[in-house]
Amino acid sequence: MEHFPFFPTPLTRHAVLSALLGVTLFIKQDDWFAYPGGGSKARKARYIFWAARERGHDAVVTAGGLHSNHLRVSALMAAELGWKSILIVHAEKPAQEHAAGNLKLARLAGAQVRFVPMTGVAAAMDQAMADLQAQGRRPYYLWGGGHCLEGTYAYYGAVKEVRQQLADGETVDEIIVASGTGTTQAGIEVGCRECFPGARVRGISIARDEERGRGVIETSMRELYGYLRQDPPPQAPVFDVRFRGGGYEAVYPELLETIRWAARRAGLILDPTYTGKAFHALRRYIAEGAIARGAAVLFWHTGGILNLLASRELEGI
Ligand SMILES: *Cc1c(COP(=O)(O)O)cnc(C)c1O
Repeated sequence: MEHFPFFPTPLTRHAVLSALLGVTLFIKQDDWFAYPGGGSKARKARYIFWAARERGHDAVVTAGGLHSNHLRVSALMAAELGWKSILIVHAEKPAQEHAAGNLKLARLAGAQVRFVPMTGVAAAMDQAMADLQAQGRRPYYLWGGGHCLEGTYAYYGAVKEVRQQLADGETVDEIIVASGTGTTQAGIEVGCRECFPGARVRGISIARDEERGRGVIETSMRELYGYLRQDPPPQAPVFDVRFRGGGYEAVYPELLETIRWAARRAGLILDPTYTGKAFHALRRYIAEGAIARGAAVLFWHTGGILNLLASRELEGI
């Protein structure tokens, strides 16, 4: 599967956090993915938009929440390609849109934004497709979050990128990643089987319950294994729902404490929607002994700085 050429993101060996946590901590910095605002959605979109362009598309219709990183990246990449984009936002139009930085960047890039209630997303996507077709365009129908084979494949490739960044003989024991639609985790699972067969991947649910979350990850993995013409492994992926709090965008005091701790002690910026929950899980695993002292741990930083800036919970001091 082809993709736009892009720079690999750094793999940081974090000396300060390793000392504080008592493990060897690597951070895969997809928060610094070379694209405005960075993050995992940009890595996925590089593959998704390239494949859609090869198939002759010249517009995109997709959906997401008010603070969706996926919408920002979709709008920018569409503009980069000279495409039209229509974004279906399942939220009320906010009184102060400037507080939603992702949406601000999407609008700046010329996206047309339509606000609908959650129940109206499917109909609004169909309408947007029809509107673009009536203008003579060939719109690409993209699921929210970049949930598709190309998105999964992007993270399969990202694990190979990590393998190349480690020295020969060097490996990782544990990989921790925030898991939402599960596309990212599914790609990492498949990549790990090839590159780090001894490693355990722990997906940290940021919203979904265990049954739905794991089911979607397994479906994405089967899809990618089908593409690769390989059989899926028998064991189920780990999808830990203990750290999601009340659900999507819901915060809790220990989560906020971890976000402050990482920023103050090590200059590591996490967000309350995604990476904060995953990093909080990492701290808990070490405290509980589920991750052994001295283990080689890879924290997959998936981005989220705009979610942090949009949150009200960490204002002031
Ligand atoms: C979307 C997103 C995730 C979750 O990725 P999925 O592939 O949907 O599981 C994690 N972190 C950030 C910053 C995201 O935007």
